[in-house]
Amino acid sequence: MTKRVFNFNPGPATLPLPVLEEAQKDLLNYKNTGMSVMEMSHRSKEVSELIEEAEALMKELLEIPQDYRVLFLQGGASSQFYMVPMNFLREGSEANYIITGSFAEKAYKEAVKIGPTHIAASTKEENFTRIVKPEEIKLSSHPAYVHITSNNTIYGTQWHAFPDFGDIPLVADMSSDILSRRFDVSKFALIYAGAQKNLGPAGVTVVIIRPDMLERVPDHLPTMLKYDTHAEKNSLYNTPPVFAIYMVTLVLRWVKNSGGLAAIEKQNEEKAKVLYDVLDNSGGFYRGHAQKDSRSLMNVTFRLPNEELEKLFLSEAADQGIVGVKGHRSVGGMRASIYNAMTLEGCRALADFMKEFQRRHG
Ligand code: PMP
Repeated sequence: MTKRVFNFNPGPATLPLPVLEEAQKDLLNYKNTGMSVMEMSHRSKEVSELIEEAEALMKELLEIPQDYRVLFLQGGASSQFYMVPMNFLREGSEANYIITGSFAEKAYKEAVKIGPTHIAASTKEENFTRIVKPEEIKLSSHPAYVHITSNNTIYGTQWHAFPDFGDIPLVADMSSDILSRRFDVSKFALIYAGAQKNLGPAGVTVVIIRPDMLERVPDHLPTMLKYDTHAEKNSLYNTPPVFAIYMVTLVLRWVKNSGGLAAIEKQNEEKAKVLYDVLDNSGGFYRGHAQKDSRSLMNVTFRLPNEELEKLFLSEAADQGIVGVKGHRSVGGMRASIYNAMTLEGCRALADFMKEFQRRHG
């Protein structure tokens, strides 16, 4: 393959071409320092400035209240599965989970190891084809927090309106849809996201945290697992993943230069429509996994009439430079991940291929 493909991988995922080109330009000599950003001290002015800029751009783009903190941690979103209960699950309370997919379930299972938990709602019985309805949510008597997964990467479902539990802290795993649309951050006590879908390369996890939550962190926790450690030291308590943070900064600048979140959101809606229209107009040849009102704008999941056709679909798509569309084994079929960096052009190429494939094999 000599040219770049249309890459629909679920994460790590395609990055904006201008970002990769800029990183390439900076690689040997960052800002006339004579070294790359990977080779310099994390205590240098350049690196502190990068982290400050990343936090400021996150706040600007997502309209995060100024007193919230944005942290850049390691260990992936999966480490947040246990950090959240370790930091916030107090005696006499229960960690509440709304289970809408495998990652939500993984988060719940980690909390079970830490303390009392409660499943407030789940769509597992329906193979996670939808998000829960507000009336299905039943909280425990003393919830420490309620945890949701805003976008279910594997199943292709997404919350379109977030639940509101008043004073009970709302915690969200937004790994696969952060920065893809506008929403009211002030309704959340904590948001976390692995970077490798919408924000940059793997290796850094972004945590957005409300200041009062930092005060709840118990002293006895290991230093690295306390959110307040990282907040007090501006994500520089230990050596942070500098290159990944640098890439996130470039992605954030790219989002800003692309017109900010409103423009990105509009483009994401347009992109998803191109693909969902093909499913809806295929007369049942392409069957979506998600129920319509729970459809994700980030991961479009669908099946073909049989597994032979699915295999053929993948190989013919690859011949046309369309890759990464194989679905997760728990759903089967296809999944097109169309995060911010996937272009409308890429979605149209996939949609045209799908229509053509149906004409030939339908
Ligand atoms: N949560 C969601 C919604 C995800 O999609 C993923 C990764 N695909 C994870 C958590 C796990 O992230 P990580 O690999 O960064 O631990």
